[in-house]
Amino acid sequence: MSKTTAVLTDKFGRNHNYLRISLSEKCNLRCNYCMPENGVPLTPRSELMTAEEIYQIAKVFVKNGVDKIRLTGGEPLVRKDFTEILKKLSTLDVELGITTNAILADRFIADFKKYGLKKINLSLDTLDEGKFRVITRRDQFQKAYDNMLLLIDQGFNVKINAVLMKYFNEDEINDFVLFTRNRPISVRFIEFMPFDGNKWSKDKLVSQEEIMAKIISFFGIENVLDLDNEPNFTSRDFKINGFQGNFGIISSVTNPFCDGCNRIRLTANGKIKNCLFSNKETDLLGAFRDGENIEPLIENRMFKKKAKRAGMDSFKKLQNPEKHSNNRSMITIGG
Ligand code: SAM
Ligand code: SF4
Repeated sequence: MSKTTAVLTDKFGRNHNYLRISLSEKCNLRCNYCMPENGVPLTPRSELMTAEEIYQIAKVFVKNGVDKIRLTGGEPLVRKDFTEILKKLSTLDVELGITTNAILADRFIADFKKYGLKKINLSLDTLDEGKFRVITRRDQFQKAYDNMLLLIDQGFNVKINAVLMKYFNEDEINDFVLFTRNRPISVRFIEFMPFDGNKWSKDKLVSQEEIMAKIISFFGIENVLDLDNEPNFTSRDFKINGFQGNFGIISSVTNPFCDGCNRIRLTANGKIKNCLFSNKETDLLGAFRDGENIEPLIENRMFKKKAKRAGMDSFKKLQNPEKHSNNRSMITIGG
């Protein structure tokens, strides 16, 4: 990891070299764990960052040590000027990645290749068409599935994100692991996290412990190999002996990985968040439009970052709806 400047170093000495930029609050799916049933109030277009503003603000972060940028949303590929944004960001000295539901990915293969975007995290919570319709409230399973295979076939570095829900898709855990047998991909199981409007409850959560128990009982403990974690990992990684791909668990709820957190989030309307769970934001876009230096604003927000999950340092605190209901919905944060 690169060394960041004081602007991106918090009071616990964590260096934040990884910027996640949300390009849109809109999405072509309506995942029930992400988007509240009645949608979200959208920011007027004039208050969203333009392609040039995204580039100029990103440049300030890169100057201070960011060397990794991930585009997210909402759905980043619904943005009409996506290619222009990608082209501009590709001129910065950073590793580029995207998190997408893959519905539109086939239209952008050539652009991804041309502008050096290799790392693609795509969300697919089920391998069952009917369940996909229930989760996403849209009938697009085949498109998402075909595009996932296309991206793998085209040689992209693909990670599948699957949010697990009790009594819904937890029975597919081993099917997803089997999916990695002959494919060079990683499947990451994500614990369901609480955000405004997503009806979170601990009873719907499938914990890291439960996920591992299912995998071990199916594949046998001797076949589950523990892999070394990447620096600043969010996912604890494993593979099944002899399988080409691997799997990981993102346990933000039961076993968070805040000590090594290197992430900063920039929302589509130009606010930074120092933690996914924090409801405190700093408006960079307004200051940028007023011609202000945004570095002190970034430094101040990063300095205020709490040690663990925006102060919700225990599972008990995280379960208190008052602690997270003033935060945005995930769709407007950029996961
Ligand atoms: N539309 C893109 C996608 O779905 O990949 C990018 C944005 S989406 C908000 C980014 C990631 O956040 C997805 O992998 C999604 O599964 C995850 N996510 C959304 N809501 C979540 C929740 N309540 N708990 C855990 N993960 C969540
Ligand atoms: Fe859209 Fe991604 Fe949220 Fe699903 S998880 S509603 S695809 S932004």
